[in-house]
Amino acid sequence: MQYSTLTQRIAGDGAAVWNIHYRALELQQQGRDILLLSVGDPDFDTPKSIVQAAVDSLAAGDTHYSDVRGSLALRQAIARRHARLSGRAVDAQEVVVLAGAQCALYGVAQCLFDPGDEVIVAEPMYVTYDAVFGACGAKSVPVAVKPEKGFCIEPADVRALITPRTRALLINSPHNPSGASLPRATWERLARLCIEHDLWLISDEVYSELLYDGEHVSPASLPGMAERCVTINSLSKSHAMSGWRVGWMIGPPALADHLTHLALCMLYGLPDFIQNAARVALEHELPELVLMREAYRERRDRVCASLEGCAGIRVHKPDGGMFVMIDIRETGLSARAFAERLLEEHGVAVLPGDAFGPSAAGHLRLGLVLDSSRLVLACQRIARCAVQALEGQGQSAQ
Ligand code: PMP
Repeated sequence: MQYSTLTQRIAGDGAAVWNIHYRALELQQQGRDILLLSVGDPDFDTPKSIVQAAVDSLAAGDTHYSDVRGSLALRQAIARRHARLSGRAVDAQEVVVLAGAQCALYGVAQCLFDPGDEVIVAEPMYVTYDAVFGACGAKSVPVAVKPEKGFCIEPADVRALITPRTRALLINSPHNPSGASLPRATWERLARLCIEHDLWLISDEVYSELLYDGEHVSPASLPGMAERCVTINSLSKSHAMSGWRVGWMIGPPALADHLTHLALCMLYGLPDFIQNAARVALEHELPELVLMREAYRERRDRVCASLEGCAGIRVHKPDGGMFVMIDIRETGLSARAFAERLLEEHGVAVLPGDAFGPSAAGHLRLGLVLDSSRLVLACQRIARCAVQALEGQGQSAQ
């Protein structure tokens, strides 16, 4: 039987990245003690009041078709929260609720790009981006962000990649995998580039509430940017709600209308009981969220302190997010070889950085998704693995 060409464009390297994670799960099922740091899924439970709101809503019979754009009350709550965090007033008309940031990214790409269009994306990049743009026949054009520059994007490098086919720039700050957060001055230069070349700016802000150092800048709040900016966010990371699939896009009302048409032929609205729970999540400053943020910060600090000064290892302290990048180039092993050895011999699962792009070769991405004592144990095992690799290097040189 025949399949569409789309099926080839969505089955790239992105899908293979998870092999090491699947292997780790297999070993765990066999009873091995595996420290699973390969995913970005929060280990915290969703706060109880949010769960209760969903239960109450289900019991009250909110089990019918919902508003395809997202309920007005939820869109207003999203608009209010965005205004508070970004300093820019937003109307509910500019908001569309979708099934997670992933679904929002996919929908936005479908509404903005045609085959042959180019989207400039900082590389290393989140693994699904390539397929998201590929699905609509557009091409992601990677702009390398180097570990030596703290994984921060250089606007001059972006400028050099702009062609007549360039339609957009996609920025994810704080950044997955590195945790780098862009300073305001860089955002201002990127914004000027977008205005000068009439580009969309897609801002993936799923880690915006997990920021430990510096200020989060939402580029839609910069002068002249609201009309060309698409903000993507979700509750997955900030509220430990990855399985609820609640995300949204905020953009010009015309884009919101187009996305609503797309949602009508694709998602047909998020369940009302999920939306009602999401409202509770957004409207209350729940104590659990504050504790969770503090826990991530403490984990980051413990991991960085544990690996500081270890032979063969350099650790990049992230500004935000839930990952730490570890440079293991000195050990002489590739990230994949190191990650495989670390899993099989030391029981720690991390992702090789090159899964996110060649600029992260020789790096490992460690997720801050276990309590800090387990993370410190993982760091000890990583340090041991690095020492063994260095000893191996020494022996082969003799
Ligand atoms: N963007 C980035 C950078 C991510 O890391 C993730 C999830 N890992 C997503 C988007 C998708 O998040 P969601 O669960 O909201 O779909």
